[in-house]
Amino acid sequence: MGNKPVMAIVLILVIVACVAFMVRSGAKKSGAPAGGGSQERDLICLACEKSFKAPMKDEEWMPLQMQGKNSAKKVKCPACGKDEGVAAQKCASCGELVPAAGMMGMMGPGAKAPMCPKCKKPLTQMAKGPVAAPAQPK
Ligand SMILES: [Zn+2]
Ligand SMILES: [Zn+2]
Repeated sequence: MGNKPVMAIVLILVIVACVAFMVRSGAKKSGAPAGGGSQERDLICLACEKSFKAPMKDEEWMPLQMQGKNSAKKVKCPACGKDEGVAAQKCASCGELVPAAGMMGMMGPGAKAPMCPKCKKPLTQMAKGPVAAPAQPK
């Protein structure tokens, strides 16, 4: 008879410890660089033209992708060590990874379809149609 409450207390302590551990390890994970929003992204170096991958979070990647090769902030290239890495995009014509044209090259007055530096054909399928609807305005 006397043992039962002790067992219950031990059980509760174990459960509390488990929950505390789970909460703590969960919190740790979200702060780690490899966790959550960080993904491997395709980048390309403007200096040596080598493409590479780097883990980046959405909030780091988005501006790079938007600005493409005109990006003010560049990523260090693992091949040549220069800070010349920009977002890469796959050419729709030849399938090669080339520096992303960025939004500035695609929109605005006198916007031209970005051309692939390798095959000199349009980088995106956009160029084919007369009007490609841009992303839904928010
Ligand atoms: Zn490089
Ligand atoms: Zn191409």
